[in-house]
Amino acid sequence: MEKSMQTVQVKSMFVNGEWVQAEGGDTLRVINPATGEEAGTVSYGDARDAKNAIEAAHQAFKDWSRLTARERSKYLYNLYELVRSHRDELAGIISAEMGKPLREAKGEVLGAADNFMWYAEEAKRVYGETIPSSVPNKRIMVNRQPVGVVGAITPWNFPVNMVARKIAPALAAGCTVVLKPAESTPLSAIRLFELIEQAGFPKGVANLVIGNPESVGQEMTDNPKVRKIAFTGSTRVGKLLMEGAAKHVQRVSLELGGHAPFIVFDDADLDAAVAGLFESKFRNSGQMCICTNRLYVHESVAEAFSGKLIERLKKAKVGDGRSKDTEIGPLINQRALDKVLRHIRDAEDKGGRVVFGGQRLTEGEYGKGFYCEPTVIADVTKEMDIANEETFGPVVPIMPFTDEAAVIGMANDTTYGLAAYVYTQNNSRCFRMAEELEYGIVGINDGSPTQTQAPFGGWKESGIGREGGRHGLEAFLETKFVSFGI
Ligand code: ADP
Repeated sequence: MEKSMQTVQVKSMFVNGEWVQAEGGDTLRVINPATGEEAGTVSYGDARDAKNAIEAAHQAFKDWSRLTARERSKYLYNLYELVRSHRDELAGIISAEMGKPLREAKGEVLGAADNFMWYAEEAKRVYGETIPSSVPNKRIMVNRQPVGVVGAITPWNFPVNMVARKIAPALAAGCTVVLKPAESTPLSAIRLFELIEQAGFPKGVANLVIGNPESVGQEMTDNPKVRKIAFTGSTRVGKLLMEGAAKHVQRVSLELGGHAPFIVFDDADLDAAVAGLFESKFRNSGQMCICTNRLYVHESVAEAFSGKLIERLKKAKVGDGRSKDTEIGPLINQRALDKVLRHIRDAEDKGGRVVFGGQRLTEGEYGKGFYCEPTVIADVTKEMDIANEETFGPVVPIMPFTDEAAVIGMANDTTYGLAAYVYTQNNSRCFRMAEELEYGIVGINDGSPTQTQAPFGGWKESGIGREGGRHGLEAFLETKFVSFGI
């Protein structure tokens, strides 16, 4: 890890197959959220660097898109092997720059490797169609072709896998890519790009630009050579990018915010529901767009459920992600911590009862880290900020309900539509809930639904398009109808 960080200090952007520094010469300090100390320093660029990278990707597109799918697949397969064999090193970097427990970070790296393998395989299955013509002397053929240069922008919460989920299908489809990772987590992206270099991809096929988000983002949407924007992050920034993309009618895939309901019926297996909630709420310290944000529990089991949940939370070790027994790490930064604490205080002011946790942790090992206690709030109502805004932290707001139709109404009463969870043992209700919930992802008795081959994405203001599986490859393909007169 040390070696990698030293080598990245001066030249940490990968443009046209070379490691370069920012045109403007600026640098950026990366902070370890577990300690508040520096985890590394990297170059910090702007639109000029993005422009260079877009030009490189544009030049590389011609040859890369003309390779056979089998040839492109070989590079992706090399990358899969490299990412897998560097699992522990990449996980250490992720944990040092964004705080997640090592066990989760290793899982994330394997997830990223799995994406490279899956798309190495799927690259070979970009099939077209032939369609019967209504006149005898014509033949209709439908081809699929790569959309072109992709501008990809990723968040800090899954700093390796979010990159993999975009660049694996893009490269498989025959696109070339310019990636801008989040400012908080460039170190793992740099290490991943070192592996991309090692995997032997031709120069310019995958480029890394670290820099000012507004400036780089603007260049990506202003530059007509970019044909697709692939973004994961906040709904606010997603809307800005969509507006910018309108200028040249760039294609967009947007994975935005969520406000997931987690519904526990009176016939649920409560132990399974607690385990599912723990996964969906406390993994990554609650910093996932598919995290539970509202817990609706049938009033007849509310007390039993919160008792079991609190027992589970008492056992959960909060700490530095790099220590072996940590289950819940710190939040990413002070701003994130402030927001979580604000949601807790706002709920209290409006009549919510904090029944577990509720405070920042600062004593002893917690020192300057951005730690929040796992927290449970009872008597939450619709008026509270936590019931409407994404908290992105380890806080469970409990809202009791009595009736299936009413809970469906409450669950759908949001501008978001990413993930929803339901625990029940009634088969008919499973189907009803799966159909009624206005969400792109529904976990039925499953608090952790993501898999490489499944389409991940949101309805409403949670986004456009899907990542994962064959749907994720579609996002990087154009359709061409060719009519042959014979
Ligand atoms: P969060 O608040 O979770 O960090 P953001 O949407 O701000 O979510 O960040 C997600 C990604 O979007 C990051 O890579 C960030 O640098 C980038 N980003 C932030 N603002 C802009 C912008 N105006 N244009 C383009 N990208 C942006």
